[in-house]
Amino acid sequence: MTVPGPRPVRAARGAERTAKSWQTEAALRMLHNNLDPEVAEHPDELVVYGGTGRAARDWASFERITASLRSLEDDETLLVQSGRPVGVLRTHEWAPRVLIANANLVPDWADWEEFRRLEALGLTMYGQMTAGSWIYIGTQGILQGTYETFAAVAAKLGGGNGPGDLAGTITLTAGLGGMGGAQPLAVTMNGGVALVVEVDPSRIERRLATRYLDVRAADLDEALRLAVEARDARRPLSVGVLGNAAEVLPELLRRGAPVDVVTDQTSAHDPLAYLPVGVDVADRRSLAAADPAAFTDRARESMAAHVAAMVGFMDAGAEVFDYGNSIRGEARTAGYARAFDFPGFVPAYIRPLFCEGRGPFRWAALSGDPADIARTDRAVLDLFPDDEPLARWIRAAGEKVAFQGLPARICWLGQGDRAAAGLRFNELVAAGEISAPLAIGRDHLDTGSVASPYRETEAMRDGSDAIADWPLLNALVNTASGATWVSVHHGGGVGIGRSVHAGQVSVADGTELAAAKLERVLTNDPGTGVLRHADAGYPEAEAVAARHGLRVPMSEG
Ligand code: NAD
Repeated sequence: MTVPGPRPVRAARGAERTAKSWQTEAALRMLHNNLDPEVAEHPDELVVYGGTGRAARDWASFERITASLRSLEDDETLLVQSGRPVGVLRTHEWAPRVLIANANLVPDWADWEEFRRLEALGLTMYGQMTAGSWIYIGTQGILQGTYETFAAVAAKLGGGNGPGDLAGTITLTAGLGGMGGAQPLAVTMNGGVALVVEVDPSRIERRLATRYLDVRAADLDEALRLAVEARDARRPLSVGVLGNAAEVLPELLRRGAPVDVVTDQTSAHDPLAYLPVGVDVADRRSLAAADPAAFTDRARESMAAHVAAMVGFMDAGAEVFDYGNSIRGEARTAGYARAFDFPGFVPAYIRPLFCEGRGPFRWAALSGDPADIARTDRAVLDLFPDDEPLARWIRAAGEKVAFQGLPARICWLGQGDRAAAGLRFNELVAAGEISAPLAIGRDHLDTGSVASPYRETEAMRDGSDAIADWPLLNALVNTASGATWVSVHHGGGVGIGRSVHAGQVSVADGTELAAAKLERVLTNDPGTGVLRHADAGYPEAEAVAARHGLRVPMSEG
């Protein structure tokens, strides 16, 4: 038997399916969509985004998952263990069609070294968040969260700038990968200037091609000149510059560069994916593979220099935050004592949204027809006419976001609104106003679905940052509520040992059964987040629970 190898993968389009139901066809198309060269960062290696976040463990597993999904019945469930299909069990029609567990390790064994050892033996894979759970929609997925974050930064900066107004400011950041590539567009959508350092020229070219980045500067002098000119004209502009952030940021600090906001989205969560100073991009893989321990030390040393420069900008008055890549943790491991002097973005800007059950609601048109997303955009505008920031986002996304793979949209919606949107979408499919079903899911970076003390659950009011029961309850609840596929992962976003998180995807196929499932999943999924924050003592979350009739036993009686 020949071992399957890399091949070009692209999701099927149109209203004809090859699987036995739209539930399984949706899983099939979303898995394939994750590996579409327009979507995945390194499709030949099954790597979707975020360092080594994979959609399947190896090509043989990918082919067997594909075949299993095509033959799966409406009362069967496929089990996927770290990207490998390991069984098909008889369940029932309300059960998920796929259950996924990725990269989970017993806590005492949960570090990169042990993970890599097991990965090399072919026993596990890193699933990141939406890579191994088949709901990555390209860089747009992170764009909305990044847009929301920079809008909140603008409000905090003051100086006449309200939410969504970064005009007249320069944001300095690094990393133009799958997630980080959203930064320049999120900054310019908020009216500001972005200066982005990236060490790999191909990543700069990719962001230029997809219009996430405006221009590439020839060198640092030109980058600064372009940024300052645009800032002075209060003109939005994003400038990419080639270089290693651990060298460029200290150099910019030395020059007294007029920077207002500093953050970072290099792949710092994985010391083998962060490029140390003095290493050529072309040699990254071979050097990391030859001596992972030495490479890790060098990467951490560089991250310490990088973070020290960020702290320097903070001392000089800039707004500085960690954007969820663990760079503070790595710098501290390298011995830099002030690494945690600046906050993570969740406690700084996002937690109030989580208290309302707000988070990254996303959907993909399985038809492949952009007109279907345009129809859902109009439906969202009609459903929530009083939500001006939401309307601003939906209109801007319609104009500026180039789809990658299947057309998709994301917007942050809260408790009650997610269920309303899901039911409306299902009605549109039933009425034939949308030409094929929609897959509705979310990132694992959500209100109730993640335990991640350096990111989503940093600085919880009751100190429950590292309590990982909540994502497990979230996955169980979504399984019990009728989601089409449910996943439980370890290590996404911030790296092995540092997070546990869960995902769900549900399919709006226009049937009454789908409506009943969507109503429950899209109520209960954000509902676990409201409950999690109410339990931690956030009064805003307690009020949201009361308003939406979510029962909190400890507050009753
Ligand atoms: P990625 O691997 O696709 O891209 C990382 C980029 O950083 C690459 O282009 C790489 O060339 C570049 N890079 C590495 N070392 C560098 C250096 N020293 N100087 C300059 N550039 C360097 O990763 P991604 O998907 O873009 O994710 C970036 C980080 O953000 C990851 O750590 C990820 O876990 C984290 N993340 C954050 C959020 C969030 O919401 N804030 C969400 C998901 C992921």
